[in-house]
Amino acid sequence: MTALPKASELERMARDAVTRCGVNLDGPTLDRTVTSPINGLPIGSFATNNDVDEAVARAREAFATWRVVPAPIRGALVRRLGALLSEHKEDIATLISLEAGKITSEALGEVQEMIDICDFASGLSRQLYGRTMGSERPGHRLMETWHPLGVVGVITSFNFPAAVWSWNTAIALVCGDPVIWKPSEFAPLTARACAALLDRAIDELSAPRGLSQVVLGGADVGEALVDHPDVALLSATGSTRMGRLVGPRVAARFGRSLLELGGNNASIVTPSADLELAIRGIVFGAVGTAGQRCTTLRRVIAHEDIVDALVERLAATYAKLPIGNPLEPGNLVGPLIHGGAFATMGNAIGAATAQGGALVVGGERRLADEAPDAYYVSPAIVRMPAQTDIVRQETFAPLLYVLTYRDFDEAIQLQNGVPQGLSSSVFTRDQEESERFMSADGSDCGIVNVNIGTSGAEIGGAFGGEKDTGGGRESGSDAWRSYMRRATNTVNFSGELPLAQGVEFSV
Ligand code: NAD
Repeated sequence: MTALPKASELERMARDAVTRCGVNLDGPTLDRTVTSPINGLPIGSFATNNDVDEAVARAREAFATWRVVPAPIRGALVRRLGALLSEHKEDIATLISLEAGKITSEALGEVQEMIDICDFASGLSRQLYGRTMGSERPGHRLMETWHPLGVVGVITSFNFPAAVWSWNTAIALVCGDPVIWKPSEFAPLTARACAALLDRAIDELSAPRGLSQVVLGGADVGEALVDHPDVALLSATGSTRMGRLVGPRVAARFGRSLLELGGNNASIVTPSADLELAIRGIVFGAVGTAGQRCTTLRRVIAHEDIVDALVERLAATYAKLPIGNPLEPGNLVGPLIHGGAFATMGNAIGAATAQGGALVVGGERRLADEAPDAYYVSPAIVRMPAQTDIVRQETFAPLLYVLTYRDFDEAIQLQNGVPQGLSSSVFTRDQEESERFMSADGSDCGIVNVNIGTSGAEIGGAFGGEKDTGGGRESGSDAWRSYMRRATNTVNFSGELPLAQGVEFSV
């Protein structure tokens, strides 16, 4: 392994990448620093911008024009954004690695997801279909039309610092809505670079500038968006703790919210499973992004006949995991976002062992001598005798619990027996088990997979989960409907005035 890069090198990389994307770094007083988890040292600064009122006013102005632009023309803007993202794929990926600590391949994958959603949204711009229903009255037509909704506020988490914005923004823009983005305070440079690319597309296509704005800062800036009466849809991605605060506040002003919150995802491994495949799916799910994905695999529920063999093979694979600088090819596990995340992981391992668990492997801090301010950790596996309190919580780190089951009903009960409901999977070659898992009394999650892990969703499907995950759906399928308002239209061409439900009311 080569040495971790020096602070000055990371700072230069960040500056070069944002500049190439068109960000002008000379600006107002910079009041906050941004730190790279790669070495735990500052790589840049940013200015808190909490003038949400001004941003909303500009967005409303843009909305007045944009909502009447034909949707396929709105699609052209998103298509251009996709092309610019392709051109700057490596720049954005570098910033994601620098700010979120993702390995290069996963960071490039995140940008690919952004390019893909632009593709999807540009096609969608010709497919914002409403239905026509048979009217119960003669000479009448009953139909629905979809209209732009209004200003969309987007609050994003540190671990997908760019893709979540693009899922929301690409769809919102074709739906006719302007977007105000409050990115994670850990990833302001990635946000500014993405926004600069969209600004360039907006200027090239002479679209209104107020369609895309970024407000930087912490929870207070997010709260200003949450409470603003002119933010029609608030899409918030982050912890369940944040969603619990945000959801009721938006509801209190009758705003619309789309919540994408924490997960506690499980894979069931049955006796008929292809163990080789299962192990690959489990390892990517559990240690990819250093366990910091909402869809990260946190629980394996394995049949009693295979659990010992499975744990043994997982432990052997974990022992070989290359951990270190995420920019260095070959490394698969980068750093945790900060020391707090490392402490949380340690506390969770402590609680799990106090609740009867046995630590199989991992949990040690790595590279501490070389980078005392960065937090690299060996991914951990803990075998649990039962689904105790700690297992029911999301610990945002590479910590995998292994539970044992005897019959498939028990496995489903364990899978569903947590407050969160994001992603789930089963490894089986038994068709009855896979169908049962996907059926109404199977997994209660928003994402239900067969012979694949819990993480790494494609943009074509609707993404999100139930229960404490918040119930929101974004990205593909018909998730666009959250960004539009529906009008039901009844047209009478009969020359008579028959009333619905046969009501008689003649004066
Ligand atoms: P976080 O909740 O700490 O922060 C997320 C965002 O919310 C940040 O931009 C933050 O500034 C903002 N925020 C925090 N408190 C707020 C408040 N009171 N009002 C308004 N905004 C507020 O989450 P994080 O640590 O950045 O991300 C990790 C969490 O996000 C995990 O729980 C993970 O599962 C979840 N996540 C969910 C999804 C999903 O699609 N379901 C995707 C990615 C991450």
